[in-house]
Amino acid sequence: MTEPPNGPDIAAGDAKSMGGDKYIGELSSIEEIAAAVRGCTRCGLAGTRINAVPGEGSDSPSILFIGEGPGANEDEQGRPFVGRAGKLLDELLGVVPLLRSDVYITNVVKCRPPGNRDPLPEEVRACWPYLEAQISLLKPHVIATLGRHAMNRFLPNTRISDQHGRATVWRDIVIFPLYHPAAALRSTRLRQTLENDIRRLPAAVLQSLKMSATRSKASSGTDVSVPADTTSPASKESSVEGETNQNRFF
Ligand code: URA
Ligand code: SF4
Repeated sequence: MTEPPNGPDIAAGDAKSMGGDKYIGELSSIEEIAAAVRGCTRCGLAGTRINAVPGEGSDSPSILFIGEGPGANEDEQGRPFVGRAGKLLDELLGVVPLLRSDVYITNVVKCRPPGNRDPLPEEVRACWPYLEAQISLLKPHVIATLGRHAMNRFLPNTRISDQHGRATVWRDIVIFPLYHPAAALRSTRLRQTLENDIRRLPAAVLQSLKMSATRSKASSGTDVSVPADTTSPASKESSVEGETNQNRFF
């Protein structure tokens, strides 16, 4: 596994660190990862949490939603997005329509930062291998980040006002940034924007499937061409060497 692609404040992660009694990269099911997270003491947030929040949903989701970290309700219940923001997320998924059980929902850090402060770089670094392991096992077609913080873990130096509702390729997965539902609760305009973007998620999944088909065709040697619109990096600044393969396709 690798370090979080999050610019200079996040140094190399210790991918071989223990997450329970097994290396995190060797955990072989989503349930094993969840169990390791529930018992995890890799960072200081273990000392202040009520419950760790590993994530929940389908174990073969087309879409993986990633928020930044649990809030008070999530900490109490051990489940992601169960407060007001979560209710709005459920409602907006319903317009697609999608159910929580069709997707997987998790966070960058699995334990609540006290007072809902931003997680510290060392907390993100300590927790990152769990997210990596979840992404590897779940193999989502699309990662929908919720809010600018989660987005910037994947697309550093980008702005949510530019990126929301736009697909970018990161390690062969489509990243589709969305505004955070908590922000949408504070603004009718953002709520509408979030709804419009969520309605476009099926198109993002379709694009991802087409991209995989193109890739497997190319690697089978029958067709080595790559569509022109997937060849240019979305932004030089935001690409992290060896980590980010950002190509815009809509
Ligand atoms: N906000 C988040 O980012 N994650 C949650 O799980 C809940 C609220
Ligand atoms: Fe472990 Fe992540 Fe919780 Fe820190 S935030 S204790 S690394 S599960």
